[in-house]
Amino acid sequence: MKPLIITIDGPAGAGKTTVSRILADRLGYRYVDTGALYRGVAFEAQSAGLSQNDDIGLEKLCSGLNLKFVQGEKSQRLLSNYSDITDKIRTPEITMLASTISARPVVRKYLLDIQRDMAREKKLVFEGRDMGTVVFPDADVKFFLDASHKTRALRRYKELTSKTSQTLEEVDMDIKRRDENDSTRSLAPLKPADNAIIIDSTNLFTEDVIKLMLSYLGI
Ligand code: C5P
Repeated sequence: MKPLIITIDGPAGAGKTTVSRILADRLGYRYVDTGALYRGVAFEAQSAGLSQNDDIGLEKLCSGLNLKFVQGEKSQRLLSNYSDITDKIRTPEITMLASTISARPVVRKYLLDIQRDMAREKKLVFEGRDMGTVVFPDADVKFFLDASHKTRALRRYKELTSKTSQTLEEVDMDIKRRDENDSTRSLAPLKPADNAIIIDSTNLFTEDVIKLMLSYLGI
């Protein structure tokens, strides 16, 4: 099989991360979690005390940032200016802030260049919101992974129980707000690319989704 760029977009809680990781593993590809980059910018903006709509401040912040993925012992780590911030970017506050600042054009522009730069080597699975529509419109295969709102909230809740004390209702509300932010922003809103393969994972196990994706890849 020729080396491919595969994109997996979709809303929060649809199972993109799990599926992207496994798919990349099966193919011997590298997996890129682009949401982590938005979270990284949000974390640094919060640390710098910037307000969400301070475009000049955000631009300055981005121009001095060096976000980089490195392979850790067990999983990929995100470094920001050589400091490992992987475990600091999953809090509910950073999650919401990432969603808000991801609507700012200065942030999207900064991350667009970084993401395209990563794609020079091919054999990659990119997970995000606008991978197939904006960042890699010429990607070889584009998936859009969806699931019902209820399923997504429950999945995210189960995933978070060991990490935060949020209730199911709070997780549900956060997902609603993020869906609203991500799909209504004017720049790179969350939506399937015209030529995306849409998979509804509501009633599917992870392995079923993987099998389906592999079959679309002819494997
Ligand atoms: O995927 P994850 O939940 O970690 O993403 C955090 C936030 O980053 C999303 O809610 C979304 O607002 C933003 N994001 C984005 N474009 C991407 C990936 C993430 O706008 N490609």
